[in-house]
Amino acid sequence: MIGLVYFFAALLGLCVGSFLNVLVYRLPNGINIALPRSHCPKCKYTLKWYDNIPVVSYLILGGKCRNCRTRIPIRYTIVEIGNALLWVASVAMFWNQSIPMACINAVALSILLTMTCTDFEYLMVPDSLQIALGVLAIATLVLSATKVDTTVTWYSRAIGAAVFGFAFLVISVIFEKKAGVESMGGGDIKLATVAGMLLGWERMLGAMLIATVVGSVVLLIVRKTKKSEKHTQYPFVPFMVLGIVIMMFFGKFLIDGYMNLMTGWM
Ligand SMILES: [Zn+2]
Repeated sequence: MIGLVYFFAALLGLCVGSFLNVLVYRLPNGINIALPRSHCPKCKYTLKWYDNIPVVSYLILGGKCRNCRTRIPIRYTIVEIGNALLWVASVAMFWNQSIPMACINAVALSILLTMTCTDFEYLMVPDSLQIALGVLAIATLVLSATKVDTTVTWYSRAIGAAVFGFAFLVISVIFEKKAGVESMGGGDIKLATVAGMLLGWERMLGAMLIATVVGSVVLLIVRKTKKSEKHTQYPFVPFMVLGIVIMMFFGKFLIDGYMNLMTGWM
């Protein structure tokens, strides 16, 4: 039975991943997400259904457009496979605890993956994605309040949203006043609020620690190697997402381990 669940999680994950690629391209460009049908950006050739099968079509076409032979970016396939893996991992980690939580987390991971891609490519996170993630966060709040989900309390989720939303707002105002530049896009503040609710404040704290440390190290390396200008904007959302995903899967384990270590010392 559970084998079947894994199979469908992988299959559905691939198809949803294929749709996420559409969102990454269309949402920031303000294009309708349903119509027109997918086409080659170069020659406008409308993709047939058999050009649109996740992974398989890419392999059959040798990574090129059927019509004009323009290269299809490998990112499309990476997102499809990545999303399928996230869905399978979601089933593995959460299905036994609570099926609704496994489904919510799977969809949340898909949205986070999409946010990462739009922030990398366009340095922005569409509000529609924030709203969708917000709806899921509120759903987890309800599941916690009704004791369907017992891993995080509803007030930990409420505190997470309030504290991290406010903290990010304050930091961004201070930076703006001091440096005269917009340090964080509004996207970071919104994501901090929504993810604070999704994780609860304890795991969100861990997520932001990971994001800050990894983000700083990567930024240092990029600055050293690229000699880029001081005021170039860097995407921070991908680092936030990294922290959020790690804490979503391993938060309880990491926090329990940390607490044991601390009490052992005292
Ligand atoms: Zn083409």
